[in-house]
Amino acid sequence: MSEERFEGSFTQQEPIPEAGIEAAIAVLRHGRLHRYNTVAGEIAEAALLEEEFASLIGAKYCLAVASGGYALGCALRAVGVVAGDAVLTNAFTLAPVPGAIASVGARPVFVEVTEALVLDFADLEAKARATGARVLMLSHMRGHLCDMEALVALCARLGVQIIEDCAHTMGAAWNGVPSGRHGVVGCYSMQTYKHINSGEGGFLISDDAGVMARAVLLSGSYMLYARHRAAPPPEAFEDVRMVTPNVSGRMDNLRAAILRPQLALIPDRVVRWGARYRALEAGLRGVPGLTLVERPEAETYVGSSFQFLLPDWSAARIGAFLGRALARGVELKWFGAADPVAFTSRYQHWGYAAPQSLPQTDRILAGVVDMRVPLTFSVEDCAQVARIIRAEALIVGQGPEPEAVALPVIQ
Ligand SMILES: *Cc1c(COP(=O)(O)O)cnc(C)c1O
Repeated sequence: MSEERFEGSFTQQEPIPEAGIEAAIAVLRHGRLHRYNTVAGEIAEAALLEEEFASLIGAKYCLAVASGGYALGCALRAVGVVAGDAVLTNAFTLAPVPGAIASVGARPVFVEVTEALVLDFADLEAKARATGARVLMLSHMRGHLCDMEALVALCARLGVQIIEDCAHTMGAAWNGVPSGRHGVVGCYSMQTYKHINSGEGGFLISDDAGVMARAVLLSGSYMLYARHRAAPPPEAFEDVRMVTPNVSGRMDNLRAAILRPQLALIPDRVVRWGARYRALEAGLRGVPGLTLVERPEAETYVGSSFQFLLPDWSAARIGAFLGRALARGVELKWFGAADPVAFTSRYQHWGYAAPQSLPQTDRILAGVVDMRVPLTFSVEDCAQVARIIRAEALIVGQGPEPEAVALPVIQ
């Protein structure tokens, strides 16, 4: 019998819902794409989107912007980070996170991660004390939430404000509290590979009127902030309207129109991703040499990606495993490669940050394997993907040490 091969595409998301397509066409027909270009009595799609997301997530204020990375940089400026400040962040994250810190001239200080792929609290405390950093840009990388109550308590003790990077946790929660609601600002991405899709896009949410007034002004609201429906009242802008720079990064009405009908789909998507995640997890449990990341009871996660660890596997063994999985149609990403391929999540590749030594993170990243799980995969597809990974992990993991091989290139 020939070996089964997976035929699905790891980068193919679901289409935009018909309601979003129709709303987008309506915007194209009238031509008022700029969020402040409205006729009398009209409420811009961007303003409605903000109002609806704020209500969905339970935040007082919401601002829609051009990208997730923009949201992160805007949040840093809005809480008062200035050039030269130290900003704490996870050592395992995606390039837009340290990039946002660098974009304001601040210094990324990387904090070790644990085998659960979340922030190491002891290292956080040590680095906060050593650097005097007042801000933590917390990346819920690949959707893994740390113990949020413990983190909030620790940061309160340290005098550190939390900005949450929720690019992978839109729809997730810790003990029922939505991700993004623990810090002073929560930031989200609506880029195609995240949980709702407008190609590019981002949100900031906050209950802090001063912070949000600055964010709205920063995003390029001119003096039109009163047209927002999820912004603080005009009084909150009085002291800052003349002194806050315009760093344009607005959301437009076309993308807002595409996004609005997707908001109602988030709960269902969380359920569907959960079923796919659990099929992968069940199929990979008990493989010798392969460690699953156990999810805490308190965490409601969104299974839009899947990670497992191959602890202590040599680079050659991991390379051979990735190559064999790819030959059977399964695209896996490894973050241990010395040279960045496509997207990268290794802090050593961000050479604009001061060199830092994080031996624990190095050891963990050397064994982390990552996989995208688009909703175009069925639960049966995920079971098949797991069977292929399981078979190849057994063959390569139990076999002799392979020759060093070139890593397969995937996007
Ligand atoms: C995608 C992503 C972002 C934001 O990215 P944009 O492409 O700018 O929307 C931020 N953090 C993480 C961890 C991400 O994966």
